[in-house]
Amino acid sequence: RDHRKLGKELELFAFSSKVGQGLPLWLPKGAALRQRLEDFLKKALKKGGYEMVVTPHIGQKDLYVTSGHYEKYGEDSFQPIKTPKMDEEFLLKPMNCPHHCEIYNFKPFSYKDLPKRYAEFGTVYRYEQSGELHGMTRVRSFTQDDAHIFMTEDQIVDEIKDLVKLYDYMYSVFGLEYHIELSTRPEDKYIGEIATWDRAEKALADALDNMGKEYILNPGDGAFYGPKLDFKLKDSMKRIWQCGTIQLDMNLPERFDLTYIDSNGEKKRPVMLHRALYGSIERFIGILIEHYAGAFPTWIAPVQVKVIPVNLEFHSDFVNKLNKKLIYFSFY
Ligand code: ZN
Repeated sequence: RDHRKLGKELELFAFSSKVGQGLPLWLPKGAALRQRLEDFLKKALKKGGYEMVVTPHIGQKDLYVTSGHYEKYGEDSFQPIKTPKMDEEFLLKPMNCPHHCEIYNFKPFSYKDLPKRYAEFGTVYRYEQSGELHGMTRVRSFTQDDAHIFMTEDQIVDEIKDLVKLYDYMYSVFGLEYHIELSTRPEDKYIGEIATWDRAEKALADALDNMGKEYILNPGDGAFYGPKLDFKLKDSMKRIWQCGTIQLDMNLPERFDLTYIDSNGEKKRPVMLHRALYGSIERFIGILIEHYAGAFPTWIAPVQVKVIPVNLEFHSDFVNKLNKKLIYFSFY
């Protein structure tokens, strides 16, 4: 079931030493599979009130200094872009959040406009050591089904409930069971007020309790900027994979000076939420290949129909016509 072996046999993806280590090349059949997963999610996102956005693959160094990622992850985690001018510094983006914060900042919002849900299939780049690279599950360029939700504090519970419903539906379609883990405020390294953390953690727990969803509590395991829910998937071989996350963030709204106008006409900070369902599409497909042992359900299978003439002399006209019709009626 090794996805690296099956990926090659099924002609889904390849790696080339000329392009570089850990940089996957999607072959036509792999791209078709990936497209189907993206379209499936896009339909669900449209129903869920998300708006798709597109942002560049690079950003100025200053953007990541503002976001705090540069300081936190260090110079070595970023891949610089060479530019002809000495005073310009661009980096390949390791995450989409700073770009989405600037999209939110494009115009002022009132509480009536919230939640704002921006989604992007955003390709990000992270410099993994070559010894750590592994097929599609650990690569240097990957695409996140990323979304950032900006909302008021009293919208958290409903938003989380909608998200859990969405995750529940999506994972069940692939026959993937999951359990949820709730991680709370770290002992010492955290930002913001304890009271705010308590409210945020309670909102996450309330949403799960309301839905009758069980979860495992990981005290102190949250990110420094907020508590989170992790969705751990179980594949057909009972292996556990970390894929989906929902993270509350009290840091970036402050750093990017994000605001909305509340019902009293006053400026307030929105609550920001990062969420990804597949996580990395590369990794998710790697998991799916092994989960299904390469025998995908028809709706995502790259090859769904083969038309085979039994007698070329008598059948080729009909077969060509049928082939054209099938291509015309298929989505891809
Ligand atoms: Zn994010």
